[in-house]
Amino acid sequence: NLQILLKRRPVGAPVREDFEIVETPMPEPGEGQVLVRARYLSLDPYMRGRMADVKSYAKPVALGAVMEGQTAGVVVTSRAPGFAPGDVVLGGYGWQRFSVVGPERLFKVPEADPPLSTSLGVLGMPGLTAWVGLEDIGQPKAGETVVVSAASGAVGQVVGQIAKIRGCKVIGIAGGAKKCDFVVKELGFDACLDHHGDLDAQLDAAAPEGIDVYWENVGGKVQAAVFPRFRDFGRMVMCGMIAQYNEAPGADAAGAPVGPNLGPVVRKRLRIQGFIVSDTGWPRYPTFRAEMEGWIRAGRVHWREDVVQGLSAAPEAFIGLLQGANFGKLVVAVD
Ligand code: NDP
Repeated sequence: NLQILLKRRPVGAPVREDFEIVETPMPEPGEGQVLVRARYLSLDPYMRGRMADVKSYAKPVALGAVMEGQTAGVVVTSRAPGFAPGDVVLGGYGWQRFSVVGPERLFKVPEADPPLSTSLGVLGMPGLTAWVGLEDIGQPKAGETVVVSAASGAVGQVVGQIAKIRGCKVIGIAGGAKKCDFVVKELGFDACLDHHGDLDAQLDAAAPEGIDVYWENVGGKVQAAVFPRFRDFGRMVMCGMIAQYNEAPGADAAGAPVGPNLGPVVRKRLRIQGFIVSDTGWPRYPTFRAEMEGWIRAGRVHWREDVVQGLSAAPEAFIGLLQGANFGKLVVAVD
């Protein structure tokens, strides 16, 4: 079995030497388990958290253990009821070609229509994150102004498109003209602002009315620019703060505190809430999937993936994800 292990805990940005690629014996499924051959591996920002030995909502990956991740692939052997060899599934585990998993979070999915890789993106955990976070926290209403950071990414692209379906004015924030062009022309957002430019001026021009819902994917200076522009009773969906993952908590690379002054929370009666998709998301996966497949078939939701070839390319691709090198949902085609 080809596996990628966590060799060392990164200090700051991860580097190639923090990972180790090894060949190991084929795993055997026990009673009630399924052996899955991965076709696609999802690479996601949360994996940076699993590389660090800090207290969080999930345990860190142990040194020398296979990197955590979700895969989509094909059942090779099954000792669990309901799954048979050849079934195409979402829910394999880890940065590895073969994995043994229980049936609890294994979903049978179509192989080709839509393509299997979408089960890791628009029809997978990132899509589910967007759907759950908007339903439970953002609750966008027609006519409201919604701002989404990391707008061209896996979660952001879905958030903005759902908000458009709900009748909102949607403004994305992304890094660079290419990504912004895609967000407006392909995804149909009303505007997209480049965070390499002057965000304050761009936000004033694009949303003079202020912001009702901010979907936070980034943190740092993006958060600081968006936050003062909330309207009364705004909602801030705290999904992630990727700009800060390589740094010490609450500080930038120079150790200075980052993030906004939250004083106006009271005056404006804002609601700020964090969430983790796995808290309540997976039992709702079939409902989400049915609705999202409907939108895709109706041409109302589009997606973009960034597919990297070969499992051994995963470390470099993951390092790039934390610097904005990906354009769309990052997945690895394992073989
Ligand atoms: P993306 O596909 O959006 O990829 C990450 C993007 O983040 C990059 O392409 C880049 O976009 C942006 N980025 C990276 N580094 C920086 C930086 N230093 N400053 C500003 N932008 C940066 O990833 P996902 O959609 O998978 O994840 C988006 C966010 O959602 C993350 O914060 C993630 O942790 C969070 N998340 C939370 C979940 C939950 O349950 N709460 C579940 C899933 C994801 P650009 O070039 O446009 O800046």
